[in-house]
Amino acid sequence: MSQGSVIVIGAGLGGLQCAYILQRNGYDVTVLEQGAQIGGCLQTFRRKGVEFDTGFHYVGGLGEREVLGWIFRYFDLLDLPWKKLDEDCVDRIIIGKDEFRLPSGYDNFVDTLSRQFPSQKKELRRYVDVLKKIGSSLRDDFGTGASIDYFQQSAYKFLCDTISDPLLRKVVSGASLRLESNADTLPLYEYAQINNSFIQSGWRLKGGGRTLVERLADGLRHMGGKILTGVKITEIVEAGGTAVEAVSDKGETFSADIFISDAHPAVTVSMLKNCSSVRSIYKKRINSLKNSNGVFTLNARIKEGELPYENFNTTLHGSDADVWHSRGKSYMISYGVPESGDSATTIDILTKIDWKLVSEWEGTSPMLRGKEYEEIKEMMARRCIKAASQVIPSLEKSIEFYSTSTSLTYQDYTSTPDGSAFGINKDWHSPITTLISPQTPVRNVLMTGQSLNLHGILGVSMTSLYTCAEIIGHSKIKKQFKA
Ligand SMILES: Cc1cc2nc3c(=O)[nH]c(=O)nc-3n(C[C@H](O)[C@H](O)[C@H](O)COP(=O)(O)OP(=O)(O)OC[C@H]3O[C@@H](n4cnc5c(N)ncnc54)[C@H](O)[C@@H]3O)c2cc1C
Repeated sequence: MSQGSVIVIGAGLGGLQCAYILQRNGYDVTVLEQGAQIGGCLQTFRRKGVEFDTGFHYVGGLGEREVLGWIFRYFDLLDLPWKKLDEDCVDRIIIGKDEFRLPSGYDNFVDTLSRQFPSQKKELRRYVDVLKKIGSSLRDDFGTGASIDYFQQSAYKFLCDTISDPLLRKVVSGASLRLESNADTLPLYEYAQINNSFIQSGWRLKGGGRTLVERLADGLRHMGGKILTGVKITEIVEAGGTAVEAVSDKGETFSADIFISDAHPAVTVSMLKNCSSVRSIYKKRINSLKNSNGVFTLNARIKEGELPYENFNTTLHGSDADVWHSRGKSYMISYGVPESGDSATTIDILTKIDWKLVSEWEGTSPMLRGKEYEEIKEMMARRCIKAASQVIPSLEKSIEFYSTSTSLTYQDYTSTPDGSAFGINKDWHSPITTLISPQTPVRNVLMTGQSLNLHGILGVSMTSLYTCAEIIGHSKIKKQFKA
C-alpha cells in the first residue's frame, strides 16, 4: 500500500535523491523539473558533438567505509565508471612558483606534506585527526544534532590555532574553488567535511554528472517514480495550514500529500507567497541570507594526442594570494576522463566571478546578450588560458575550441539567485540563521539541496538524508543507509 504521494520540485541531485529514497520507502513520487534536462548543476552540454560537464569535477570519500561511499552504495552509484585520482596527488597546489601536492590517505597526507614542512609534522597530524573526527560525525552522529558544535566554530581560527606555518595554512586550504573560504564566516564543519572527504580519496567520473543523474533517474523510474521536465512551479497552494497543490507557470496543477522543493530556499519561499502560515519574518530571513560566489568556467576541447591526461586537479594562486581574505585570483584546472587512452580530451578551467560583472544582463535570453557580454566572457577566457599556461605551456595551441559560462548561465539553468555556485553561505556566528532546516512553516512542505546543510555532491547527498528523515524518521534512514 502506498505511503502517500509526493511532489518533488527540481531534478537536481538533491531532488532526485529524495525522490529515490521516498519511492523506495513506498511513496508515489513525481519529480517536476523546470528545465529540459535533469541534473540542475550536474547537467552536461554538447558543443560540436563534444560533451562538457557543468558542476561536477571531482568528489571525495567514495572508497569503502568512506564518507560518501556508504551513501552512494544505497543509491546504487558505486559501480559507475569512477576514476580514482592519483593517491600521491589529488590536488596540486601552485602558489607563485612553488608546487605542493595534497595526496589521499591520512598518513600519506601527513608524510607527504611534512617532507616539505618538516617542523610541522605534529601539527599536520593534529589537523588531519580533527578533520577525520568531524568527517566521521556525518555518519556516526546522524540525527543526534551533535555536529552543531562544529558549526559554531570558525574554520579559520581552527587553521591558525592548529598550523603555525602561514604557507602550510595556504597549502592545506589551497584547493579553494570547492568552498568559499571566508575567514570571518566559514564554519569549521563545512571546511572539515569537504576537505576530509578529499583526504580520504578523490574521484572523477567518466561521462561526468550525466552518468550520475541518469543512473539515479533510471533507478527511480524502475521503482515506479515519475519525472516530468519543462514544468516550472510558481506557487504552492495551501488550505488550512496544509499544502494541497503545486501550480506551474502554465497553470497545470499537481496535488500531493507532501511537497519537497530542491530549488534555492528564496525560490521556494516565493512559491509560498500566498500561504498564511508563512510569516513575513521567515521570508525576510531567507531572502536576506548571503549567497556564495558564482563561478566562471572555460570548457576546452583538446586536439587529439596533443596533451597527456592528468589524473589530478591543479589550483593556481599568485604568490601574494590569500584565499581567506579574497585577495588575488585563483584558477582550478580539471581534466575530463578520456573515453579511452591517456591523452587529454577536455580540460575545464574555473575561477570565481563577481556577480556585478554580469548582473546587468539578468533576465535576458542566453544567446541574445550582445557584444559587451561576449567581450567580458572572452576577457575571462583569455585570463584562464594565460593562467593555466603556467603549468600547461602548450595549452593555447592544443585547444581545438572552447565554450564559456558565467554565473548568469547557472542562474538561467537552476534559478539560483546571483548565479551562486554553492547556494547560501553558512556563518559560524549564527548557525541558527544560516543553517536552514528542511522544514518550512507549512507542515507538509520541505526543502532539500545545497543551501541547507552543506553544498557539493557530498553535502547535497547528506542533506537528502536529513530531508527524508523528516518524513520517514531518522532511525529508519540510519538503518537503511548503514545496512
Ligand atoms: C561550476 C561548479 C562546479 C562544481 N563542481 C563540483 C565538484 O567538482 N564536486 C562537487 O561535489 N560539487 C561541485 N559543485 C557543486 C554541486 O554541483 C552542487 O552542490 C549540487 O549539484 C547542487 O545540487 P542541488 O540539488 O542542491 O541544486 P541544483 O543542482 O541547483 O538543482 C535544483 C533544481 O531545481 C530546479 N528548479 C529550480 N526552480 C524550479 C521551479 N520553480 N520549478 C521546477 N524546478 C525548479 C532547477 O532547474 C534545478 O534542476 C559545483 C558547482 C558549480 C556551480
